[in-house]
Formats: sequence, structure tokens, C-alpha cells
Amino acid sequence: MGSTQKIAIVGAGLGGAAAATLLQQAGFQVDIYEQAPEFSRLGAGIHMGPNIMKIFRRMGIEQQLDQMGSHPDHWFSRDGISGDYLSRIPLGDFARKEYGASYVTVHRGDLHELQMSTIKPGTVHFNKRLETLEETDSQVRLTFSDGEVTYADIVIGADGINSKIREELLGPEKPLYSGWVAHRALIRGDQLAKYDLKFEDCIKWWTEDRHMMVYYTTGKRDEYYYVTGVPHPEWDFQGAFVDSSREEMYDAFQGYHPTVQALIESTESVTKWPLRNRNPLPLWSRGRLVLLGDACHPMKPHMAQGAGMAIEDAAMLTRCLQETGLSDYRTAFELYEANRKERASRVQSVSNANTWLRTQEDPAWVYGYDLYGQVLKSGVAA
Ligand code: FAD
Repeated sequence: MGSTQKIAIVGAGLGGAAAATLLQQAGFQVDIYEQAPEFSRLGAGIHMGPNIMKIFRRMGIEQQLDQMGSHPDHWFSRDGISGDYLSRIPLGDFARKEYGASYVTVHRGDLHELQMSTIKPGTVHFNKRLETLEETDSQVRLTFSDGEVTYADIVIGADGINSKIREELLGPEKPLYSGWVAHRALIRGDQLAKYDLKFEDCIKWWTEDRHMMVYYTTGKRDEYYYVTGVPHPEWDFQGAFVDSSREEMYDAFQGYHPTVQALIESTESVTKWPLRNRNPLPLWSRGRLVLLGDACHPMKPHMAQGAGMAIEDAAMLTRCLQETGLSDYRTAFELYEANRKERASRVQSVSNANTWLRTQEDPAWVYGYDLYGQVLKSGVAA
């Protein structure tokens, strides 16, 4: 049994990894437990807005990410059929000046690897699938599927949409299938050179019930990525995703603009993912257990801020624990929820509605947010 105060994080996704680094930098003793045997560079990109780059500045990885990723000057929205521009949201230098950091699109695996490299050696434990939790007056006992047992003062559930820790707090409940899937494909930049078409740095093609979001995942523009949202009445496959095909893509995007057709033609392999979510949870913590990220507020990914919210949660939870000290974790958890719920729920609701930046709007409430500049609101009154 551990004698010093310890924080256990379950799940080393983008949210859990951020929490581990930030808490360790703040001087807490942290171990992180991940069910996967290792992480691979899965075929997917991700946006990181200025709101998150400001947190990465604290973590010491902003510059590396800036060098690694692509820096779109705009987020364009265009009509999927006619190609007419629906919005031109300025990013690039505008974001640096107005929002205080850059807007980056990057390969998700590269970002994750960079984040993992900032966690103290020896504190990430792979192949550790949490099976049971048992809370006593003074500690939590965690048991993993390989039989190993560990103890911690508090446990952070960063274990994604199917969170075991959410289940412990609120009982078993499957996530809701939204009725939409996302196709994801990476395209080699050199595949696009043969077309007499413009491939913009960050663009979302829209029609009434579907879309395709496209952007570069490297600063060299040698990897282009698309992710879709397409209605799909049921999800009756096993696993997190399945293979899709070029034919399925042609069917889904029939009649779409020639640039979209060229992307489908250039697709070598494409996967299909169910889009799932949950209604807002009635509580984010109980006793020594607390949730963050998708474990707490999963959303459809249409604002490109799901991981962003997980990372903001990690930063706010760290701030609150610093404020109170680990012994007063109850007050820290109240503070955390009081300072996160409104923003995370708003993002969750806009993201689920899939309206973000479709028409010209001001994204400052999301991108301009500086978590470290916020005066903490007090927690729930006792
Ligand atoms: P996860 O990334 O799900 O990590 C959870 C971790 O916990 C996993 O590593 C898992 O293996 C581990 N785990 C689970 N159960 C256990 C257990 N019992 N024991 C031990 N470990 C466990 N977000 C953005 O910000 N920008 C984007 O551009 C973007 N695009 C997206 C596109 C698509 C198609 C999708 C589906 C999502 C997208 N998102 C995006 C959302 C983003 O991926 C999620 O919100 C984010 O990954 C949540 O991070 P997390 O750390 O909370 O959970």
C-alpha cells in the first residue's frame, strides 16, 4: 500500500496524458494506467485551437507542435455541391494576435506521442485495464485485469466514452448512437499534384445532412486528411471502427464538388467510426473519484474541440487541486465542476448540433479562452 499521497489516472488518451503532465509539473505524485499495450499512429488528424495551445505552452510543447503541424490561414466552409463559400473564419496570424496562440492541425498520433513524451518516465503503465474500484475511508483500491492491485488517494477517470469510472459513479449505461458515422482517411500529398484543383488548408464541405472536413496534418503538407459526418441508421458492427471503401464514399458524396471527388479518387484506405454521445451527466465526481474528457462529456466531434475540452478539464482540475491541496480533494472537485461544466456543456451542445462555423460567426468564446486567465468561481455552497 502506498504511504505518500498519490493520484491515479485511468486512461492515457489526450485528456489523461495532459492531466498526468500538468499534475506532475505541479508537484503531485501521479501514476497513469492504460489498457492498451502500446499506442500506434492510427490514421486520423486533429485540430488544436489557440485555447489548447495556451495550455501546451504551460506544458512546454507549444513550439514543437507549432513546428510539427499545419497552420491554416482560414477555416473555410463551402457548399458541397456548388462550392460557394459559406464562411471564411480567419485563423493564422489573426488567431495568434487575437486569441493569443496559433491554430494547428496535426496528425493525432504525432500529437499524442509528443504529449506522452512529457510524462515522467516510469509513471505510465500499459496493459493495465481497470476492472474494479473499491473506495475506503482513506484510499481507493484499483484492481486491473492482470490481477495487479494499487492504491491511490484520488482516481481521475480519463477513460473515454465507455468509462469504467463513470459506471462506478452512475451505473452501467451504454452511450447513445447518434445516427451518424465518420469516415476517416489520410491521403498522401503527392497524390493531389495531378489535379488542377485547389486543396485548401482547412475546409469543411457541407450539404444538409452530411459534410466532409479536410485539412493537412503536417507543416510540410505531405499528408492531407478528411473526416466526414454521414447519416447511417444503425451501428451493428463490433469494435471501435470498421473498414469502409472508396465505393461507399462515392455513394455517400454523390454529386459533391469535383475537389471532393478527387479526394475520394485519391483514397487508398478509409475507416468508418460510429459517432456516439451521452446526455450531460448529473455529477462529475463522488468521494475520491472524478471524471474528465469523454468520460464526462462525450460529444459528436463537429467543433473539433472534444479533445480540447478533455485537455482544458485536465488543466482546470490541476489548478483546483493546486488551490486546495490534495487532502481537500472534495473542495477541489467542486471548484473544478463549477469552473468547467458550463463551458464544456456549451461546447458539447454546439458540437452535437453541427452548426459550428457553417456561417460567418465569431469563434472568440472558444479560441480566445485562456484557462489560466480565468478567476476561479467558487464551488457548490456547502
Ligand atoms: P480517449 O481519447 O477515449 O482516451 C481514453 C483512454 O482510456 C484510451 O486510451 C483507452 O484505451 C483508455 N481506457 C478505457 N477504458 C480503460 C480501462 N478500463 N482501464 C484502463 N484504460 C482504459 N477532438 C478535438 O479536440 N479535435 C478534433 O479535431 C477531433 N476530431 C475528432 C474526430 C472524430 C471522428 C472523433 C470520433 C473524435 C474527434 N475528436 C476531436 C474528439 C476526441 O477524439 C475526443 O474527445 C478525445 O479523444 C477524448 O479524449 P479522452 O482522453 O477523454 O478519451
